[in-house]
Amino acid sequence: MYKRRLDSVREHLAGAGAELFWSSAAANRRWLSGFTGSSGAVVIGREKAWLLVDFRYTEQAGAEAPPEVEVVEVEEIHKGIAALCANLAVRKGCFDSRHTTYKNYQKLGELAPQVEWLGVENWVETGRGRKDQAELAALSRAVELADVAFTHIIDMIKPGIPERELALELEYYMRRAGAEGTAFPVIVASGPRGALPHGRPSERRLAAGDLVTMDFGAIYAGYCSDITRTVAVGHCDARQRELYNLVLTAQLAGIEAVTPGKTGREVDAAAREIIQAAGYGANFGHGLGHGIGLEVHEEFPRLSRTSEVMLQPGMVCSVEPGVYLPGWGGIRIEDLVLVEEKGCRVLTKSSKELLVVG
Ligand code: ZN
Ligand code: ZN
Repeated sequence: MYKRRLDSVREHLAGAGAELFWSSAAANRRWLSGFTGSSGAVVIGREKAWLLVDFRYTEQAGAEAPPEVEVVEVEEIHKGIAALCANLAVRKGCFDSRHTTYKNYQKLGELAPQVEWLGVENWVETGRGRKDQAELAALSRAVELADVAFTHIIDMIKPGIPERELALELEYYMRRAGAEGTAFPVIVASGPRGALPHGRPSERRLAAGDLVTMDFGAIYAGYCSDITRTVAVGHCDARQRELYNLVLTAQLAGIEAVTPGKTGREVDAAAREIIQAAGYGANFGHGLGHGIGLEVHEEFPRLSRTSEVMLQPGMVCSVEPGVYLPGWGGIRIEDLVLVEEKGCRVLTKSSKELLVVG
């Protein structure tokens, strides 16, 4: 597994005519070396790979890294990279430019002045886009944890309960069920606050006639899930039902469009056209979805009006259209889907019928 991952970076190295690539970005480092610590760098040469860590992490790195990656304890990461460059007589080296600060780039130039440093992007992220069986198993468990938390929270939704308490219960329940943590701070937005796509849970108490949007996810074995459901409290009126059905129709069209070979832009359009045709295009101001894995928002694939990322089997992404009306509220429905050889499979199991609860 790690050999395949390391080799995917070596293909880029060969293409660039370089001898070495390094990254200290947490998710890239973990994907390439198995190391879950919070500091260190993975360095990939044409034949060998190293994980550079300081004294605090030597034992953990030794236990987590596969045989293909040699653990080296260093005093400081950039000094360690410079030493490797000297030992290997590296002439051209590549750094992960989206994750390297300008200061560290300068530092490396001073420590290894003989090396021509080339900033590169997405050498690891593209590989992370297509999940293998072990990754899918972890991700599916993270999805299950979110699904059971949704089932659990339904019974707690009633007039009078503060948003903050629902958010806390979702988090607590997922962690009790085995989640390492939440994939991102839980979103609960009720009534008019539903117009805030990323509304932080407040002290607002739910009232009969509200719609409440809950967006949350779990982390399991490092992998994130992400689900959104909007439910009605007590009762719902015709407009709420009509808009809910509009968002659901768009969401189903988006899922239907997730097929290998399509671009993120094409899938986004399939859902967006439905919302636009109903006159609510301006009220759906974000992209249709995002890739997910070790990070909750990944580029491969992003579904948006500008995304040219091509869908491939093994990719996992969210499909999450929404409509937000200031002063009225909002509706969003989000599932995770796995791109398959033909079409896709919906991983999220929670019901999408409009639930009227409490
Ligand atoms: Zn979400
Ligand atoms: Zn999402």
